[in-house]
Amino acid sequence: MMEDQTVEYSLRPRYLSEYIGQAQAKENLKVYIEAAKMRREPLDHVLLYGPPGLGKTTLSNIIANELGVNIRTTSGPAIERPGDLAAILTNLQENDVLFIDEIHRIHRTVEEVLYPAMEDFALDFIIGKGPSARSVRLDLPKFTLIGATTRAGMLSAPLRDRFGVVSRLEYYTEDELSYIVSRTADIFGVGIVGEASREIARRSRGTPRIANRLLKRVRDHAQVRGDGIITDSIASDALERIQVDPMGLDSIDHKMLRAMIVNYGGRPVGLDTLAASIGEESQTIEDVYEPYLMQIGFLQRTPRGRVAMAAAYRHLGLPVPDGAN
Ligand code: ADP
Repeated sequence: MMEDQTVEYSLRPRYLSEYIGQAQAKENLKVYIEAAKMRREPLDHVLLYGPPGLGKTTLSNIIANELGVNIRTTSGPAIERPGDLAAILTNLQENDVLFIDEIHRIHRTVEEVLYPAMEDFALDFIIGKGPSARSVRLDLPKFTLIGATTRAGMLSAPLRDRFGVVSRLEYYTEDELSYIVSRTADIFGVGIVGEASREIARRSRGTPRIANRLLKRVRDHAQVRGDGIITDSIASDALERIQVDPMGLDSIDHKMLRAMIVNYGGRPVGLDTLAASIGEESQTIEDVYEPYLMQIGFLQRTPRGRVAMAAAYRHLGLPVPDGAN
């Protein structure tokens, strides 16, 4: 685990110009960063949302780097009490970035401390009790909050409204992922030839983190079973063995689709029922698996539940029932 984290850290691009894809988010941020620097002010608060592994943490670090300020990283559930947040905020330096991952999981009492902090760069305290209680305001250094979430919809409206910049990260194209795979191979110092980086890209569900992870596993195969160079045949053979199919679906996607089609006869299935029947967490299905299956047109969310689409039947080699979309 530790080693994985170190590797992930070393793979992270450090400048906007090295950050592949996400053209729209990048273009806008570039302007806002430039403007903030010219005015010597903190950048407006930024909310980044989208499925895991698309580069929210990476982009936040780049933003701080481009601004030339420090970044302090924490996560919603890690801030247990309002005092914990107060301690973090009072320790920031002028114009620093505070990055809060999984900001949708922030405790309600902590969230209330964030409002005046974001809006007025201030902390409000109540001193004393009863009739003699009074409110005291403490000024904070000006800072930029960058919040990351897989679920923008789970943020309370007052919190969401306090972000001046809201950016949705999109799934990456095959070309972009292919470039990311080549770049990572370069950093690892491993040779990759022919169509191998494209093959890995194709099976990475539009997600750089998955692309890098698959590359690492393929590299192991190339080292042990070949001469260390990743060729087309080493890549497709290794990906077959890792059980990632040509669309990038793994055994859990397959279990999910089969359960919907076979166990529930193609009728709409509720998320919790589906989760229980394949032994996965509902949240994992909702955050990680479902968004990609919807993106490729394999699954649809309806008011009555989840439904597998015709393309999913075809992909699994099952007869498409009449009336399937
Ligand atoms: P998130 O915070 O959205 O879960 P991360 O920022 O941790 O995602 O990104 C996961 C990995 O993918 C990182 O190690 C990084 O190297 C890689 N990565 C993400 N976005 C890009 C990008 N645009 N260009 C190159 N590598 C990227």
